Amino acid sequence: MMLLIGSHVKFKKDTQVLGSLEEALSYGATTFMFYTGAPQNTMRSPLDKELTTKAINLMKDNNIDYSKVIVHAPYIINLANNKEEEKFMFSVNFLKEELKRCEELGIKYVVLHPGSHVGLGVEEGIKNIIKGLNMILEDTTVTILLETMAGKGSEIGSNFKEIKKIITGVKNKKNIGVCMDTCHLNDAGYDVFEFDKLLNYFDEVVGINYLHCIHINDSKNPKDSHKDRHENLGFGTIGFDPLINIIYNDRLKDIPKILETPYIGEYAPYKYEIDMIKKKEFDKNMKENIEKQVN
Ligand code: FE
Ligand code: FE
Ligand code: ZN
Repeated sequence: MMLLIGSHVKFKKDTQVLGSLEEALSYGATTFMFYTGAPQNTMRSPLDKELTTKAINLMKDNNIDYSKVIVHAPYIINLANNKEEEKFMFSVNFLKEELKRCEELGIKYVVLHPGSHVGLGVEEGIKNIIKGLNMILEDTTVTILLETMAGKGSEIGSNFKEIKKIITGVKNKKNIGVCMDTCHLNDAGYDVFEFDKLLNYFDEVVGINYLHCIHINDSKNPKDSHKDRHENLGFGTIGFDPLINIIYNDRLKDIPKILETPYIGEYAPYKYEIDMIKKKEFDKNMKENIEKQVN
């Protein structure tokens, strides 16, 4: 079985998913994740069918399984906040639009940050998220993956029980799932060094059948810091070998692993990180080498 490894890639107006795929291939990736437009605004370019078809053909040529390619929902969406009806409905409608774009693209999975309760409290926040998801998931072929969060500010979803509560409230269970994030798990206080134990616990609380994606990031901060600052593979508090153990965990072999590690200056580190992953060998000079190549 081919290792399903990739990274976050760009999505440009002129090249769309074909450009995203070409960027991923240039890193030696076997899967990828993208936003369908700027994550911080609502500007969305119309989709070009021809580019999508070309991308699908190029994926076939390269043995890339499109059903495992991930879209990340824009982070301006916050389903947990209903302080203003208008803002809440904006989030609901914008996410609905996003799912339609994904259907048009042929994308199956969309990763979503559950939301921040902004002082309303966790229970109220979860209630709002469930309400929003039930409006959004009424009629769609796309599956929303709730991302496990670091617990920064008033973020919901930094523990599995909150994720479970949301899933329990969602009527359409076949279109809801989970995306883990190793940096977030660490920052939320989970022990990522014994990942099998953690997967057992996740299975008990949520159900491992709901897990469809994992973000692979090192962390700049210690366990339980609730910070959410990603670090390049092997350069953070988790470290290279524990991340390799996660990436090659047998129970994760069918789900895409996506790097969201920081750029080195203006350069993407993904080609180098994917190379280290394939070789299972840490290169402590990676950052310097990327910088050197630049100058
Ligand atoms: Fe995310
Ligand atoms: Fe993430
Ligand atoms: Zn993060």
